[in-house]
Amino acid sequence: MSAALVGINGFLHEGLKKRIVLADVSKSREIRRFLVSLPILMTKRTPIIGGNWKMNTDLESGMLLAGAVADQFDSCDCCDVVIYPPFLYLQAVDSVIGQSMVSLGAQDIWHASNGAFTGEISADMLKEIGVTSVLVGHSERRHVLGESEVLIAKKMKTSLASGFQTVLCVGETLEERESGNTLSVVLGQVTSGLEGVSASQMESVIIAYEPVWAIGTGKTASPEDAQSVHKEIRECVRGLYDEIVADTLRIQYGGSVKPDNAAELFASPDIDGALVGGASLSADSFNAIVAASCKS
Ligand code: PEP
Repeated sequence: MSAALVGINGFLHEGLKKRIVLADVSKSREIRRFLVSLPILMTKRTPIIGGNWKMNTDLESGMLLAGAVADQFDSCDCCDVVIYPPFLYLQAVDSVIGQSMVSLGAQDIWHASNGAFTGEISADMLKEIGVTSVLVGHSERRHVLGESEVLIAKKMKTSLASGFQTVLCVGETLEERESGNTLSVVLGQVTSGLEGVSASQMESVIIAYEPVWAIGTGKTASPEDAQSVHKEIRECVRGLYDEIVADTLRIQYGGSVKPDNAAELFASPDIDGALVGGASLSADSFNAIVAASCKS
């Protein structure tokens, strides 16, 4: 499991090693505030696994899939599990996951609260049916549907202001990677997506690093490549905010994550779970990825 050793004063003093605290800080604001007061602390981030169903399943198969995930994780507290069904099935899926540990997520949100936006879904509509997590800026919305950085930043603001856990998806295309622009693209998307987001709102932000060339292609970034981008994202967030925000931020990896490559990805110190597309459509493979995150 990812762990970050944080020296508040920038170094680990020998005499203070006794005061190192191991704690899961991702869920409790009180614990987090307490830990900030200590000179040295160790944070352990709870992994988060998301299943992005995209435009797949039908009503019956979606309910069966959700039920098979919820049954497996009705009492899991070693990681967070969120499923993102198509909008139309959210309500039905919510009735299946009920009181389990699995949370309900939406694949998108519209930034305005209501009005003449044919086909769009507002924050209040999502809230009313039990959604707690929202994806923003998924690569298919950026590259297939043409969403701009400006629109994505507006959606981030609305989603966070509405109290949703909000997953900002970022990632470079193959062309951008091959021309040596991975970091400028990814960190540019992080900076622009977080514009106007306050440090306290960052408690509800997850970043999903999803190289576009790895999504749905069967190609996965090597754990080393993924780790190095995740580390840069964390450093970028450290520059935009502070130590605590950076070290408690959860960064998911996405791009052809499968049961057989999940464990080695999760072993990397800055990889805090996964956003899973194809493999989330089978309860067996999704549950195996969740189980791998619990062992990391
Ligand atoms: C995704 O859609 O976010 C994704 C990572 O898809 P896949 O796992 O199929 O590559």
